[in-house]
Formats: sequence, structure tokens, C-alpha cells
Amino acid sequence: MALVLLRLCLPGLLECPFGREVFEKERICKMRTKIRFFLLIAAFLLADVAALASEAPPRIGADAALRLLLKGNRSFVSNRLTVRESSTPARRRALVPGQRPFAVILSCSDSRVPPEVIFNKGLGEIFVVRDAGNIPDPIVIGSIEYAVEHLGASLIMVLGHTRCGAVKAAVDATGREDENIGAIIEKIAPAVRLAQKKITGSNNPKLLEAAIDANIKLSARSLLKKSPLIQSLVASGKVRIVCAKYDLDSGSVNLMSCKAN
Ligand SMILES: [Zn+2]
Repeated sequence: MALVLLRLCLPGLLECPFGREVFEKERICKMRTKIRFFLLIAAFLLADVAALASEAPPRIGADAALRLLLKGNRSFVSNRLTVRESSTPARRRALVPGQRPFAVILSCSDSRVPPEVIFNKGLGEIFVVRDAGNIPDPIVIGSIEYAVEHLGASLIMVLGHTRCGAVKAAVDATGREDENIGAIIEKIAPAVRLAQKKITGSNNPKLLEAAIDANIKLSARSLLKKSPLIQSLVASGKVRIVCAKYDLDSGSVNLMSCKAN
């Protein structure tokens, strides 16, 4: 578009015959010159926007998206964050027309697990959906569907974390919880029951971690089960779902199988 405007404007600016004797022709000529001048300014502005837009990452596949996330996590673990470089004012302006995140992260709301930080990602790079316990309720699933269908994200990561308070609340549940907290616990309870089949003793720390693992896997399975759209995209190879667990102690994100035991 900018090039087209430039081609239209430049000849007119250079060739306008200001010295003509006929007044009316000169007036029209000056008007055309003004119009061409404004078009020229518009061309430069469009060229600027196009240059900024070109800084947006290209659409990438799921495997490459996963490599980018894990590379970002290694940068976080080794204290080499570069997130400011991808969160500049120029980057912000370039993203005004639209976003093209390469991955969706469904993670716990825990304040110690901010996906943009632990993956070293800036503006427009990842589409994050969070709630306590990384539970895929209908609104969460709808948000993820939007990201993969309309924004073109190719990877969905279900991300839990060690020592998750939401899962611990489900492990320690008494059945007398308030309605809203109770709704979270109810969603996590199947994972706790799965873990209790393998780990005995309610105070065993291994029970909590086993329940967290099971909750991640059940979340991924539920996401797939409840979304025909995501099922279709996964079946066609356009989208991939991975499960992962963030270690609060080390800062590392470790992949795990999504298959529920
Ligand atoms: Zn948590």
C-alpha cells in the first residue's frame, strides 16, 4: 500500500508545472500537489507501520512453539530475562492492529507462576488463561478456542506447579467449604481421588504432588473432551496439547505425559 502511494505521489510532485500562465490550471495544479503531498505523508506513515508490523513473529508450528517456550524458561532459570526487549513502545504500537500469539498457556493463578515471566515472553507472544488450579471451565475453554481458531496459536500448554494451593485445598477439603471455593475443590476432587489410589496418608507430601500431576492431566483431558473444535484441530495436526509442571524451587518447567493414569 505504501509503495503504491509513493508511486502515485512522487511523479506528481516532481512534474507539476507551476509556471503556467493560465490561472485556473495553476490553481488545480496546486490543489493536486497538496493532495499528493498528504498522500506522500500517508505513504511514509504506512511504511512505518508496516516496518513495525514486520517485527511480529511469524505464525509457527506447535513443535517450534514448544521449543520457544522451553528456551524462554531456560533464560528465566539462568536469570537472563530479555522480556523488556519484546515489550517496547514500538512493539506495543505494532500490535495495535492485531495479535498473533504462538501458544496458549492454561495455568494456575498462583502469583509465583506468571507465564510471561517464567517463559521470558513479551507483548503479543503468548495467550494466557489462568484460574486457581488451572481448571478448564466453559469460559476458559471458550477463551482457548478463540486463541487457536481466530489468533492462530498452534500450541496449548496445560501448566500446573509444585505445592499448588488450590490442589492442596482439595486434598485437605472437609466438605464444608463456601460455595465458590467449593466449586474449585469439586473440580479438582477427581484428581485427588486418583492420587489417593497410589499414595496413602493424607499428610504425605507425595499425595499433594501426585494430585497436582493428576489434575494437570485431567485438565488437558477435559479440555479435549469438552471442545469439539480443539478435538478437530488436534486431530488435523494444526494444534498440539502438552502438559507441564513448573517447579517453584528451581524455576524450571518440566514436560509430562498428558495421559491420565
Ligand atoms: Zn496453584
